[in-house]
Amino acid sequence: MSKIGFTTTIPIEILFAAGRIPVDLNNVFITHPQKKSLVEEAELEGFPRNICGWIKGIYTVATRSDLDEVIAVTQGDCSNTQALMETLQLKGVKIFPFAYPYDRDEELLHLQIRKMMEHFGVTEAEVGRVKMKLDVIRERLALIDQLTWQEDTVSGFENHYFLVSSSDMKGDLEAFQEEVEDFLREAKGRKRSNSEIRLGYVGVPPIYDDLYSFVEELNTRVVFNETQRQFSMPYRTTTLLQQYLKYTYPYDIFSRLRDIREEARRRRIDGLLHYVQSFCFRQIEDLILRYEVDLPVLTLEGDKPAPLDARTKVRIESFIELLKGKKEGNSSP
Ligand code: SF4
Repeated sequence: MSKIGFTTTIPIEILFAAGRIPVDLNNVFITHPQKKSLVEEAELEGFPRNICGWIKGIYTVATRSDLDEVIAVTQGDCSNTQALMETLQLKGVKIFPFAYPYDRDEELLHLQIRKMMEHFGVTEAEVGRVKMKLDVIRERLALIDQLTWQEDTVSGFENHYFLVSSSDMKGDLEAFQEEVEDFLREAKGRKRSNSEIRLGYVGVPPIYDDLYSFVEELNTRVVFNETQRQFSMPYRTTTLLQQYLKYTYPYDIFSRLRDIREEARRRRIDGLLHYVQSFCFRQIEDLILRYEVDLPVLTLEGDKPAPLDARTKVRIESFIELLKGKKEGNSSP
C-alpha cells in the first residue's frame, strides 16, 4: 500500500477509504530516535537557523521516507508550509495542496474535501463507511480523555500520546484500535491520582522530550491537552464536513479560546502552560490568550528537540509553587 505524508491533520478518512497509508510527518519526526540531527540535516541543506524546528524536521523526514505524495496544508496551519512545499517539490516530492478556509466557510471546505476525494478516487459513500469505523476509535479516545480529567487515572503524557497519534491512527486502524483497547483495559484497574495541581496544556505539541514527566514530579498533572484533543476530533458528527468544521485548530483563535475556556472550567484547571515554538507566527497568539482567558498562564518556548533546560525547569517550578500558594490561600478560612 502506498504511503501519503501530510503536514498537519487532514481528513484521513479519505486516505483510508482509498486504501492508502496516512503518515503524519510531525509524528514521524518527533518520535525519531535522532530527531535533533534531522533538524541539523535540513540546516546543512540550507534551511535558515531562524525557521521553526518542526518545519526542518518535517522536511528531512519527507525527503527520506518512502512516500507517494505529500498533502501540504497551505491554509489553516503554518505560514511556512508554502515554502516547505516548494523545497519538497524541488526534491521531486509530489505535492497535493489542501486548505482550511480561515472563516470556516462551509462551501469552501466542502470543495476542498470533494477535490481531495476526487484526487484519491473515492466516493462519498466509501468515505462515509470509513468515517463510521474511525468514529468508534474516536469515541474510545474520548474515553481516555475522560479518564484523564474525570477519573484521574490516565497521565498527561498518556493522554498526549494517544490523542496526538490519532492524527494518522499510526497508519493502521486495526493495530491502533487494539492498542487503545489494551490501554483502556490496563487503565481500568488503576487508582485515582491525587496530585495537587491540575494544568491545561495549550498550543502546538511540545518539542521537549520530558515536559510531562517533569511536571508530574512536582505533584501536578496535565488534565487537558488542547491541540492533541482537537486532533482526535472529540465531537459526534454525522458527516465528514461537519467533523472538519467543528475542529478548532485550523481556523481563527477565537473558537479555540471558547474551547479552552469551556474545558478549563469543566476540568477544574488551576493554570495553563502555553507552549510556543521559536520562530512560529503562533507566538503572537499568546497575547490574545492572556487577554481572553482568566487563568494564570506560563508561556514556554522551545526550539530544537531536547530535554527541558535548567531555566525552563525553574520557571515551571516557580509557576507551580505560585499555583499551590494561590490554592492554599483560597482554601484557608
Ligand atoms: S510550530 Fe508554528 S512555525 Fe512550526 S510548523 Fe507549527 S505552525 Fe509552523
